[in-house]
Amino acid sequence: MELVSVTEQATLVDPAGRPGAQTIEHRSDPLTGVVASVNLALGEKARAFVGTADPALLDDLAEKSRASCPFCSAAEKGTRYDPAFAPEGQLRFGGALAMPNLFSKCRFDSVVILDVANHVLRPSAIGAAALADGLRAAAELVRRARAADPAMVHHLVGMNFLPPAGSSVPHAHFQVHVRGVPYSGVTRLTEASAAWRARTGRDFWGELLAAERGGPRFVGQAGPVAWLAAFAPVHQREFWGVVPGTGSLAEVDEAGLQGLAEGISRVISLYESMGVHAFNVALLSSPVAGRGGEYSLHARVCSRPPLKALYVNYETWFGPMYGGDEVHTEAPEAYAARLRERW
Ligand SMILES: [Zn+2]
Repeated sequence: MELVSVTEQATLVDPAGRPGAQTIEHRSDPLTGVVASVNLALGEKARAFVGTADPALLDDLAEKSRASCPFCSAAEKGTRYDPAFAPEGQLRFGGALAMPNLFSKCRFDSVVILDVANHVLRPSAIGAAALADGLRAAAELVRRARAADPAMVHHLVGMNFLPPAGSSVPHAHFQVHVRGVPYSGVTRLTEASAAWRARTGRDFWGELLAAERGGPRFVGQAGPVAWLAAFAPVHQREFWGVVPGTGSLAEVDEAGLQGLAEGISRVISLYESMGVHAFNVALLSSPVAGRGGEYSLHARVCSRPPLKALYVNYETWFGPMYGGDEVHTEAPEAYAARLRERW
């Protein structure tokens, strides 16, 4: 597998009249062609303008949000499923609780509170066990939806944590969306993977892991799940957890769920150690089970702006929003090395 990158130099005369140059590396994702531009000089700008989280504000938000948190009291005051979908009303997996989203984005839109009893705003305090309970609930919801209606196979499971990541309720939770209309981003990935298989006779994801294993972006294993930094990240400090040979959440086994949960926990704890608490997670899962020979279920995790008053939403600009490509201030190999040290 060829990982393509092109390097450019930008030259300028600085305000003191001295000539300067910056190197920009444009990397292309081998499957999708998405371009990630890396300019290490931007790191200085990021440190100056973006900064790190305000811990006092974080503690204040934890305290103030706890009293009126709708998820702490979900067992008593939360929504209930239609009895035809779930006669028990709400689903429980360990400390996790699943219930319908009060405002739906699709036919089956659920909130999965990872640990009802644990209202915490520090990613390291969420814990792999709670993430695993949440993933078990998510996989069950995906299976129940298709059992209820065979057309309800398209699904997207993910997590927004803290307001800079698009979350309105800070208590840690997944959202599980299931609908009859494909998700365009998932379709692009599954179709590109199928085309790769048709063209080469090989599995893109198996090839990717074979190429990356032991290299500067590979972090380690969590059970069967391989964790690595993306060569051409779509978003900031993006890590992928790949479940080889399994295409869909509808069919992933217990070891796969645990490996995903353990890896997500380690990635978000790394972000916290870097002064960033807000993050997004998405599980990119084939709507069709049995496609493990050409597509791998995988998690993508990225960091978002640090929580502070008037934070700069520096990665939500016209480039990624409309051009499709993001710019990065740190090389994936650098943050992969930091996570590898903690693995
Ligand atoms: Zn809460």
